[in-house]
Amino acid sequence: MSDGSRARLGIPTLALALAGCASGGTGIAAGAGAVVSGDTGVEGLDATLWIQHAAEYGASTEQAYRIASDMLAAALEDSSWTAAPEQRSDASALPPAIILDVDETVLDNSPFQARLIIEGREFNPQMWGEWIDQAAAAPVPGALAFALHAAAQGVMVFYVTNRDANMESSTRRNLERHEFPLAPGEDVILTRGEHEGWGSDKSSRRAYVAARYRVLLVVGDDLNDFVTVTRSSAEERDQIATDHAAFWGRKWIILPNPTYGSWERALYGFDSSLSPEEKRRRKAENLNTGAGSDDEGLRD
Ligand SMILES: [Mg+2]
Repeated sequence: MSDGSRARLGIPTLALALAGCASGGTGIAAGAGAVVSGDTGVEGLDATLWIQHAAEYGASTEQAYRIASDMLAAALEDSSWTAAPEQRSDASALPPAIILDVDETVLDNSPFQARLIIEGREFNPQMWGEWIDQAAAAPVPGALAFALHAAAQGVMVFYVTNRDANMESSTRRNLERHEFPLAPGEDVILTRGEHEGWGSDKSSRRAYVAARYRVLLVVGDDLNDFVTVTRSSAEERDQIATDHAAFWGRKWIILPNPTYGSWERALYGFDSSLSPEEKRRRKAENLNTGAGSDDEGLRD
């Protein structure tokens, strides 16, 4: 997506045949012969294909969930263990829970990304809403087995998502379709705007869970799934990630998402009013070509 060579060279504006861009395991037929009608969104081509077709993607997510499973056992044994920064008082007597993000953490929306590419569109709420309504997203590899394992251990599974509150029923339908654990008698799908104060910053929802449960693990694909980094610059995000180095792979389990996220919006200052061309130009300015580095002597 931030492949600046494309930004410099320009994706051909002529229709680009995507021969071979057939659907992967998702069952959504993008199909050979599909065309990209412009260059908007095409910088996501490799990232989306990586998720849909690279063995490395599934291996990465399975790896992440295997670590999560190992850490779950450690967390259950250690009553002082908590993964939520919002858990400030002693939680040792509280029942255990985990917090999972939804998009690109338990559900794979790459078919939606593929549709944007095919249609030459940027993210837009209408197409997103249509995709959510279909409740057709497949599980991210490893996610379902891990969630079921946690539930079988008596751990409450919460899904904290920035899908809109009006998408909760569709989201539930999608999760039910794959038999993800959805505990009865508890609202375990916590959506954006569902209650006053539940904005896109997930901190208030993590606090909601942490008030009644000991949070063993947080799993997500975006820094905002773990800690508040709203509209921080790329450099500030790096610093926040570094400051929490001890959490990664232990209490916080992160999955790869090269297709979208706050990492990408940070590169153009979160200015959604910019044209696709201007966003691309600003992103390309972040490319590190090594210019100015002292490479004298490297070949000695
Ligand atoms: Mg996500």
